[in-house]
Amino acid sequence: MTNCLFCRIIAGEIPATRVYEDEHVIAFNDIAPQAPMHVLVVPKVHVATLNDLTPENDAVVGNMTRRAAAIAAERGYHASGFRTVFNCNADAGQAVFHIHMHLLGGRKLAWPPG
Ligand code: 5GP
Ligand code: ZN
Repeated sequence: MTNCLFCRIIAGEIPATRVYEDEHVIAFNDIAPQAPMHVLVVPKVHVATLNDLTPENDAVVGNMTRRAAAIAAERGYHASGFRTVFNCNADAGQAVFHIHMHLLGGRKLAWPPG
């Protein structure tokens, strides 16, 4: 039993609209989408923040990145563009302390971000 929200989604204890899953990674729609495509790509291993990554996590983070690009391509956003974001700690607004890559697309995204 864990009180980590994303570990509980991975375990199936909390529902989510899953768009991809393999043994290392899951991806599901964000509950409060900020763009027409707003998917969270999440490693199955619990790592609280980017500060906690170790070399053992390199492969899964690489998988997450390639999976995000594949999901964007499936939805036709590979040429028009998309954004991937990891928020880390308070100033970036991290709210769930299990690392996740936001995958956003389907509209023009402002830069710099807020
Ligand atoms: P963070 O601010 O930690 O980078 O992003 C956390 C994200 O998780 C937010 O975009 C938020 O909308 C999303 N989120 C929070 N709770 C849930 C939930 O129960 N289900 C889903 N699918 N997304 C959630
Ligand atoms: Zn977790």
